[in-house]
Amino acid sequence: MNGGDEMTSSYDLIVRNALLIGNDTSTDIGITDGLIAGMGQLADAEAAETIDAEGRLLVPPFVEPHVHLDTALTAGNPVWNESGTLAEGIGIWSSRKLMLTREDIIARAERTIQLYLGYGVLHLRTMVDIGDPKLMALEAILEIKERYRGLIDIQVIAFPQDGIIGCPANEERMKEALRMGADGVSAVPHLENTREEGVLSLRKAFNLAERSGTYVHVFCDETDDENSKYLEVCASLALSSGIGSRVTAAHANAAAYYNESYFQKIMGLVKRSGLSIVACPLINSVMQGRYDSYPKGRGITRIKEFQQAGINVALSHDDIRSPFYPLGTGNPLDAAHMAAHLAHMSGRAEMRSLIGMITEGGAIAMGLEEYNYQGGVLRDGAPASFLLFDAKDSSDLIRQRLSPRFVFRSGRVIAETRPAVTNLLDTADNGRADLVIPLAMKMGASPNVS
Ligand SMILES: [Zn+2]
Repeated sequence: MNGGDEMTSSYDLIVRNALLIGNDTSTDIGITDGLIAGMGQLADAEAAETIDAEGRLLVPPFVEPHVHLDTALTAGNPVWNESGTLAEGIGIWSSRKLMLTREDIIARAERTIQLYLGYGVLHLRTMVDIGDPKLMALEAILEIKERYRGLIDIQVIAFPQDGIIGCPANEERMKEALRMGADGVSAVPHLENTREEGVLSLRKAFNLAERSGTYVHVFCDETDDENSKYLEVCASLALSSGIGSRVTAAHANAAAYYNESYFQKIMGLVKRSGLSIVACPLINSVMQGRYDSYPKGRGITRIKEFQQAGINVALSHDDIRSPFYPLGTGNPLDAAHMAAHLAHMSGRAEMRSLIGMITEGGAIAMGLEEYNYQGGVLRDGAPASFLLFDAKDSSDLIRQRLSPRFVFRSGRVIAETRPAVTNLLDTADNGRADLVIPLAMKMGASPNVS
């Protein structure tokens, strides 16, 4: 954007010397009114403020399409999940749910959002369990969504953890959740009692999403059972309802066990339906395969095959220290790192596409039209939201899994992380603490230190 008739372009801010993914030379980003207003060599341009990116890698904001703000940071309370199974996790969460208070939910959700912001997540979709008749958790998370609107975009999905047929009250609660402002509904068909009830639960969820113009985000086939075939039902319903772009099938682990001819049929169906697959490599690698003897399954869906077929695939970090997963930082690069291993995607182009799955892939699944990265390209005129990393390229980013040095949201820095500094200490002389000399000092010019 050029400043009218003037010869010299003028911006509010220029970020100089940033390295875009896939580029060898650095570029400057001109920002006006919080939007990207110019890219390239802007040496002659003027700006009210200039920031030197010093050659750092510029990455679009991370997108987390499947998180649980209501269960985060509860691991070990009231007890730890010692078996690591989904069944024990659900049992522990059932008792933890009874202890929920509004203050408890808000405090943990805020702490979790702060973690996400530090890692550069500026868009997230959270599930909220609607098992509580008063929908207290949903109300609290909707309040948090408003409170953090200027920093992070949050979509809220009404999640019937105990099923829709298995817990009939959840159908009415999903309707109430939509009236309260939820962005979509969910289903857990593989946890319903029978195949037929699973299909019926999906019909109900799709029906609600179709009528209300909202999203349907299905917990789909999160099991090692090759007979769990709800992905075909999701794709079929997405096709017949015409709302495929608003449909997500999360997990889809059973697809790893389908025979090849059935899987090929499903890939074609999923592709035509336009739905998105969200893979959760951290939680599923630890939770799946628990009932296998050797050889054990890897526990994740067929990320590479879906992606190569042209289906939108996003990666999610999913749980953070919950009854389902005791670990977790909130850093989407952890999910990409795990996916690189479990999906056999360690090639350079493959690692670049993994970064696409924690950015653009999530944005497509969430229907983020304003997102500034499309087709692997940063868009002129889109929000000036991006991350600057001390990394060289996509594979270096996944290798190091650092926090971004700076997080920009609409042209302003909203978070920064200083790099950790390690000093090697010389612990000679039997490690006497008073004789410990910083190695850096010893390697310096001081003649008094030998
Ligand atoms: Zn989850």
